[in-house]
Amino acid sequence: MTPAFDVLIIGGGVTGAAIARELSQYKLSLALLEKEAELAFGVSKSNSGIIHPGTQNPADSLKGKLCVEGNRLVRQLAMELGVHFVEVGELIVIFHEQDRPALLRIKEEAEHLGVSGLELVDRTWLQTHEPLLNSDIVAALFAPTAGIISPYRFVYALSENAQRNGVEIYLEHKVTGIKKHSSGFLVRTENQVAFQTRYVINAAGLYADEIARLIGIQNIEIHPRKGEEYLLDKKQEHLTRHLIFPLPDKTSKGILIIKTSDGNPMIGPTAEPVESKEDLTTTEAGLNKILISAQKLLPTISKEDIIAYFAGVRPVSGNDFIIRHEAAVPGFMQVAGIQSPGLTAAPAIAKMVGKLLQEQGLKLKKKRIFHKQRQASPHLFNLPLAQANRLIHRNPAFGDIVCRCEMVSAQEIREAVQQGARTLDGIKFRTRAQAGRCHGGFCTTRIMKILAEELNLPLTEVTKRGPGSEIIMDCRGTKFCAPTSERDANEK
Ligand SMILES: Cc1cc2nc3c(=O)[nH]c(=O)nc-3n(C[C@H](O)[C@H](O)[C@H](O)COP(=O)(O)OP(=O)(O)OC[C@H]3O[C@@H](n4cnc5c(N)ncnc54)[C@H](O)[C@@H]3O)c2cc1C
Repeated sequence: MTPAFDVLIIGGGVTGAAIARELSQYKLSLALLEKEAELAFGVSKSNSGIIHPGTQNPADSLKGKLCVEGNRLVRQLAMELGVHFVEVGELIVIFHEQDRPALLRIKEEAEHLGVSGLELVDRTWLQTHEPLLNSDIVAALFAPTAGIISPYRFVYALSENAQRNGVEIYLEHKVTGIKKHSSGFLVRTENQVAFQTRYVINAAGLYADEIARLIGIQNIEIHPRKGEEYLLDKKQEHLTRHLIFPLPDKTSKGILIIKTSDGNPMIGPTAEPVESKEDLTTTEAGLNKILISAQKLLPTISKEDIIAYFAGVRPVSGNDFIIRHEAAVPGFMQVAGIQSPGLTAAPAIAKMVGKLLQEQGLKLKKKRIFHKQRQASPHLFNLPLAQANRLIHRNPAFGDIVCRCEMVSAQEIREAVQQGARTLDGIKFRTRAQAGRCHGGFCTTRIMKILAEELNLPLTEVTKRGPGSEIIMDCRGTKFCAPTSERDANEK
């Protein structure tokens, strides 16, 4: 039978997950369809994790308004859902007095958007609070409300809570067809499943233009813009106290020094238009550009500090977000062009989508019981030693360390699987196992074994990020076959 819903969300990144969680407080039947093996495998996995204060957006832009509101809402959600959020503040620095008017303009525009606490700070302030910054920096705009969060753990917290409140999540369901009919839509997926729904929300990130085209809307174009980022060793955690930004240019906020909620600082990102939405390559040119720009801000940064790198692709469509009800297709909502600051703005986007749905006749009646809170699983890497010891005493599986670089236990990995992880990347994003200096060289086989046990799968079906990324192939197959020693270890 075709499942029927009030609202169907296409896309399980931070936007789709935030919308799902927001709508789950109402008496509605809701579904979210995601093409990948897990949520947060699109743009939402590869970003800087900054909860922007709203300082670098055009004064009258939708993204500026939603960024400022999102910054407020993320704090509340982080508390309700047990996500680690830290308000670290940001500094936009200048090297020349002649750039002071530009800094003042950013301040004025941000104040117009409602950003609070902005302050111009001078060289003496900077020398006290950020002693490692380049001493040629003459002043900075300090925005205390900037924060940091783990982008994927935020998505998982939102979606787990949405699910607890009744949202049905369908993974590996790539939407390939949408038909409008008198009472709503028939949405079809690649795996031949059909869904009936009254409303559709297009939150498909880089592919929002392709989803729009399925229903005949041709005027949305997503232009991929790649950003390379480089992660530094955790030893450099205290390199800076704040997020450090140069003056922004027309297309991007520039190369930053980023604090992350997991400790490792990052430098980046670049902003390069690319042909392919799947271009996640990092390049020598990107690395050089980032190193030179980061060292200009903070001369002690060294190439040897870099332990990992990645690239993300921004779904750019003009200069602003496109969030609207599609009048030509009643019941169809576009949430497209969600480039930066989409991570920050997502909870505000979700509220805006709720209002748009209401304007289009959807009744939003609060549920009598809404589970607002989520109990987060403990992570050894951010627990004080005494607390970690108590945990291990209560459950020795917390003392069985699987990932030595990041101190992740077997129990945390099992809990991650129980909460929805299906792949090695899913485990990495939830727990940090494999994210350290050895890149999983030590722990991958053990994690695969736990995944296989918990999901009741043969090891040959354990994947890195979904079908097609299997690690071990059956020796009768034609592809890669793990060396005998590795196979033996896995099968023990
Ligand atoms: C390098 C970089 C740094 C950034 N830094 C920041 C930052 O510090 N702070 C900030 O606020 N923002 C930042 N951003 C922006 C932020 O990451 C994005 O705005 C946000 O992640 C977009 O989320 P989304 O849910 O709209 O898209 P996505 O996360 O891409 O989610 C869309 C989902 O739709 C799925 N999908 C696509 N097609 C289909 C289909 N046919 N059927 C089913 N599912 C489908 C995809 O698989 C994907 O999971 C950054 C972006 C980049 C690239």
